[in-house]
Amino acid sequence: MNQEQMKQAFTDKYGAGSAIRVFHAPGRVNLIGEHIDYNGGYVLPAALEFGTALAVRANTDGMIRLASVNFPELEGEFEVDSIGSDHTGEWMDYPLGVMTVLKQKGTLLSSGYDLLFFGNIPNGSGLSSSASIEVVTGYAMLSMEQGHIDTVEIAVLSQKAENEFVGVNCGIMDQFAVANGLKDHAILLMCDTLEYKHVPFRTGQYRIVIGNTNKRRGLVDSKYNERRSQCEAALSALQPHVENLNYLAQLTPQQFDLLQVQIEDAIVRDRARHVVEENARVLASTQALQEDDLQRFGELMNASHESLRDLYEVSCEELDVMVEEARRISGTIGSRMTGAGFGGCTVSLVHEDSVETFLQEVGAAYEERTGLKADFYVCSAGDGVTEWK
Ligand code: ADP
Ligand code: MG
Repeated sequence: MNQEQMKQAFTDKYGAGSAIRVFHAPGRVNLIGEHIDYNGGYVLPAALEFGTALAVRANTDGMIRLASVNFPELEGEFEVDSIGSDHTGEWMDYPLGVMTVLKQKGTLLSSGYDLLFFGNIPNGSGLSSSASIEVVTGYAMLSMEQGHIDTVEIAVLSQKAENEFVGVNCGIMDQFAVANGLKDHAILLMCDTLEYKHVPFRTGQYRIVIGNTNKRRGLVDSKYNERRSQCEAALSALQPHVENLNYLAQLTPQQFDLLQVQIEDAIVRDRARHVVEENARVLASTQALQEDDLQRFGELMNASHESLRDLYEVSCEELDVMVEEARRISGTIGSRMTGAGFGGCTVSLVHEDSVETFLQEVGAAYEERTGLKADFYVCSAGDGVTEWK
């Protein structure tokens, strides 16, 4: 929906009245740098061109009304003063969580608000519709309440809302990319310090094609926690031998080659190698983008997938099949799984002349080999959260 459609839908729902403002936050895709955020290294996400729109208007009765075109049966009404105490167990916890964190930080809502959301990011497939709805809420509320908005701060408070109010143990990357995206740029982000820079992503005749495996993700949490503790084990094994080593990603691949014998367990060693090499790949990818060397970027994407599959072991048959079929298409220069793994999405860089063939052939071959129907999204890097004016 565009701005006018959002305003119309809002008026249909809440009635005519004073001015309605419309905000938008995108989804995001991580181009490279997987399972790096909790290991103190760099990631390279980009904001997408689709996301979550929010139409909002202050009201005079001190109520927060939450509605979403995506969940017409699930609406809520909460007193401004009670924000922080109401958990719904539904989608409303995302905006309520953000409002709760704002309140904890001393930003009291000075009136009630009517809100209507509409999103076109598929939920739960790893393109971060949750970060999108959080960030758009934080940005809109701060815009309504005060002039100055710091998008880094919005990312941080959105992550806090997801961690503490919704109860999902996510890192900062998603909210950060959604809040700070820039058209035709990727974001090189150090998750630990939030140091970042926009890297030109001049895709020219290439498009980002995201493929959703539609594989139901089981066991993700336990495997994720297992990988985290394996990284901690590797770090503990190396710390006595390296001064000031706080994170695995501080090591270069060359340093790791010399040190790796200190890690006894072969599996733990593989996990650590992935982290060190993936972090180096992110930096090499950034350089490739700065030099407009998309071929090199594609090779690094491919190497990232191999490492996630063989060393970190977070891929799955569906992701591997989709990546394999994607690489069969002559216009594909790189393809990899993206996100935590065990399902979710792949990301590929595909020449625009081959996109149609890609969608048909990869879709058909994927379905034949896995019995699942894939969804595809053809996109470019878009802007971060903004007000539609
Ligand atoms: P992901 O972030 O990968 O899309 P999550 O499970 O983290 O998946 O978040 C998806 C949830 O976010 C949805 O189930 C819903 O509760 C909430 N959400 C996202 N977009 C919207 C929307 N437009 N309207 C209402 N709720 C939304
Ligand atoms: Mg999410």
